[in-house]
Amino acid sequence: METKEKIYNKLLKLVKKDNVKVNERLKDHLYTKLGGKADFFITPTTFQEVQNVVKLSNEDNIPFTLLGNGSNLIIKDGGIRGIVINLKHLNDISSEGNTVVAQSGARIIDASRHALKQSLSGLEFACGIPGTVGGALYMNAGAYGGEIKDVLDYAYVVDKEGNLVKRLASELNLDYRTSNIPENGDIVLEATFNLKPASYEDIKAIMDDLTFKRESKQPLEYPSCGSVFKRPPGYFAGKLIQDSKLQGTNIGGAEVSTKHAGFIVNKNNASTTDYISLIEHVQRTVKDKFGVDLEREVRIIGEDTD
Ligand SMILES: Cc1cc2nc3c(=O)[nH]c(=O)nc-3n(C[C@H](O)[C@H](O)[C@H](O)COP(=O)(O)OP(=O)(O)OC[C@H]3O[C@@H](n4cnc5c(N)ncnc54)[C@H](O)[C@@H]3O)c2cc1C
Repeated sequence: METKEKIYNKLLKLVKKDNVKVNERLKDHLYTKLGGKADFFITPTTFQEVQNVVKLSNEDNIPFTLLGNGSNLIIKDGGIRGIVINLKHLNDISSEGNTVVAQSGARIIDASRHALKQSLSGLEFACGIPGTVGGALYMNAGAYGGEIKDVLDYAYVVDKEGNLVKRLASELNLDYRTSNIPENGDIVLEATFNLKPASYEDIKAIMDDLTFKRESKQPLEYPSCGSVFKRPPGYFAGKLIQDSKLQGTNIGGAEVSTKHAGFIVNKNNASTTDYISLIEHVQRTVKDKFGVDLEREVRIIGEDTD
């Protein structure tokens, strides 16, 4: 890899100066409020800029990592080497007929609200999911019986070589909290959702109901990364954790939520190590008690500290 100074100068040729940060604290961008620094943190403003950065990364062998709203990520305290790409400036949402088109840095909550304003039904399930459109496609986000797979028509992505490519929803292998976006190395830039006309009042009533359920069941008063584990076939992760009497268990500042057993909250200045140790403790305890493997939904990335 080139020296940091050389990489910085090359990035300045591709992305505006204000949109290239060095040694950026990632905890400021993550829901858990945990994690180290990024060597470079860039916020491109056009599709072309994203393509150019991918090409630079290939030519100079500089790794890059996508960061959406940081609501499904734990980043280790050693931070991330190379370039972190955040698409917050690519956040346009528009609609035509029965479709809503959202750029990947837009919040999926805002896409859901936009659909409501157009009296289009299908994105109600997403009205409380705190991620971006890109992050939602990446893991086929879903809630209360709905998921991205049900409404996505197609997406524009930047592929590994830096080409802008259209991918139909059927090509993304969307399944329970997974897609082939990570294995293809795609960067999602824009998504087109196919929705159905419905009455504004009916859509609003569903969204209000889901918001009420979410606010009454989830510990939204503390930093967290949402449900830590996927639903194991035939079980509910939260119920297994509750029945293992793990609620309230803490390691350092991280705690298994007393309000929703599937959440681990950053209650008191937790370190990433606290968080990861607690996740592993929960996995071991549930395995010992019920013989069930809890697979993580949240992604853990980055470097350990020296
Ligand atoms: C309080 C709370 C409640 C939640 N409730 C739900 C829920 O009901 N349902 C649900 O499914 N999830 C839920 N989540 C988890 C989270 O909001 C979703 O997984 C969301 O889709 C993550 O989006 P993000 O932008 O925050 O992604 P990040 O956490 O930033 O990133 C997640 C992964 O997506 C990749 N990524 C991000 N953007 C792109 C892009 N443009 N192109 C390619 N890859 C990209 C990242 O590299 C990373 O690997 C919840 C989280 C919290 C904190």
